[in-house]
Amino acid sequence: MDRIYIKRLEFFAKHGVFQEENVLGQKFLISAVLHTDIREAGKTDDLTKSIHYGDVSHMMKEYLESHTFALLERAVETLAEKMLLEIPGLQEVELEMEKPWAPIGLHLETVSVAVRRKWHRAYIALGSNMGQREGYMQMAVDEIGAIRGCEVEKVSSFVRTAPYGGVEQEDFLNGCMQIRTLFTPRELLEALQAIEQKAGRERKIHWGPRTLDLDIIFYDREVIEEEDLQIPHVEMAKRDFVLLPLREIAPWLRHPITGKSVGEMAEELTQHYVM
Ligand code: AMP
Repeated sequence: MDRIYIKRLEFFAKHGVFQEENVLGQKFLISAVLHTDIREAGKTDDLTKSIHYGDVSHMMKEYLESHTFALLERAVETLAEKMLLEIPGLQEVELEMEKPWAPIGLHLETVSVAVRRKWHRAYIALGSNMGQREGYMQMAVDEIGAIRGCEVEKVSSFVRTAPYGGVEQEDFLNGCMQIRTLFTPRELLEALQAIEQKAGRERKIHWGPRTLDLDIIFYDREVIEEEDLQIPHVEMAKRDFVLLPLREIAPWLRHPITGKSVGEMAEELTQHYVM
């Protein structure tokens, strides 16, 4: 992706763990790399098709001078989030904040903390087979969309499916959604679990009835193999109730390990049923 650089913008602020720093203040420098697509601006010479580095410089200085943080880490983390949320077309940002007068009792040129943050794309499977199923599914979509740092981009239709796993229970309602998120996979999992809790989900029987089940199917092209989190979701290729709604919104999406598209996986599963 194309980049716009802002290098070593100077400002005076009060960040630091010592009380004196929060009172007296000192010099800091901020550098930013803005990842954005500038092809249209390059073709048309139109600033509105790009990101105005002057506006961004003022935004960064104003934010960092009007807040006081103990840590440079906190300053760059919150600034990166604000920029990704507020600057249209900004896909990824790298920030480095320098503190050349850091009071450590030694002479040094500078110290700095750097972060790289971006929008990620994730696919979430939704399922419900207890109570107001449609209401729980819609609640999940609304709750996810209301989280700061998560935006709902697409929602499939909700399909009725027979229960899975051999436990006697009501039919399921299933769907999939595409979101844009600033969360890490684990933060996203925790946010989804909190929504499941809010929907009053109680797990009494494995594969048994649930008011709301939310699974992360894909997170960018990442592969995560941890005890309590596997992405892509391990069961996805076997589940028509995931693949069919997902095919509605992203048939071309490929599994990062098998290389098969959602459309291909859905096709294989349906063929398997016929046989
Ligand atoms: P279930 O409610 O049957 O979907 O299982 C929930 C458990 O699966 C949770 O404790 C998660 O830690 C774990 N898990 C592993 N991978 C995923 C994933 N991709 N999405 C959601 N939950 C996951």
